[in-house]
Amino acid sequence: TTTITPLIAGNWKMNGLRGSLEELTTLAGMLTTGEAPRALVVICPPATILAAVARQGASAGILAGGQDCHAVASGAHTGDVSASMLADAGAQYVIVGHSERRANHGETDDQVRAKAEAAIGSGLKPIICVGETEAQRDGGTADSVVAAQLAASIPDAAELHQVIIAYEPIWAIGTGRTPSNDDIAQMHNSIRRQLVDRFGDKGASIHILYGGSLKPQNAREILQIENVNGGLVGGASLLAKDFYTIISAV
Ligand code: PEP
Repeated sequence: TTTITPLIAGNWKMNGLRGSLEELTTLAGMLTTGEAPRALVVICPPATILAAVARQGASAGILAGGQDCHAVASGAHTGDVSASMLADAGAQYVIVGHSERRANHGETDDQVRAKAEAAIGSGLKPIICVGETEAQRDGGTADSVVAAQLAASIPDAAELHQVIIAYEPIWAIGTGRTPSNDDIAQMHNSIRRQLVDRFGDKGASIHILYGGSLKPQNAREILQIENVNGGLVGGASLLAKDFYTIISAV
């Protein structure tokens, strides 16, 4: 089996003013004084402080990522930020297709795939999010819903080692609820099968992150589940102490 270096990404969402950089400094201090982290550490802050996060996190090995990008590089798209701009600001990753973008901005799988292609084209690693609603889980269609999202959201680009998948059941995001370990294992195994079916050996080396109420209290057991290659962390990434505990759980 392929060894994948675990990756823990923090999604700050629309939280973070310049003052939040103090939290980043605290995290950097923890990462450099403690035992060396066994995971790659990524922070995805609001775009307004992305350059500062990239600059200040670098010496502690903290990598920076955007939370979304436009599918084209520049032009008449007021309010949008392109992948090349994120890269220019120091990002190495970008989240695409987060369920909040899909729900609040009506983003489709086709748009998500175009964003992922733009990210790859700018040298960024897209973190492509998929996940079912609670009604879909209860109705027994979680597997097929996620399979359809994966099939349509992942580009056929050659640089597949650069693609990261985040499985985030929508009903687990920000709710304090998580699927059972068995349900997580089943979904991650089925995502892995699909990646290998489509991409062969390369599919075996793609990160599959779990996201949805990952906390210091549940990180250890969730992160050791087979085919869980790290986590995408919302709420618990805002406090350096909590985020560091999750990183240390790897
Ligand atoms: C997220 O929205 O990516 C997420 C995982 O949020 P939370 O950890 O707060 O559930």
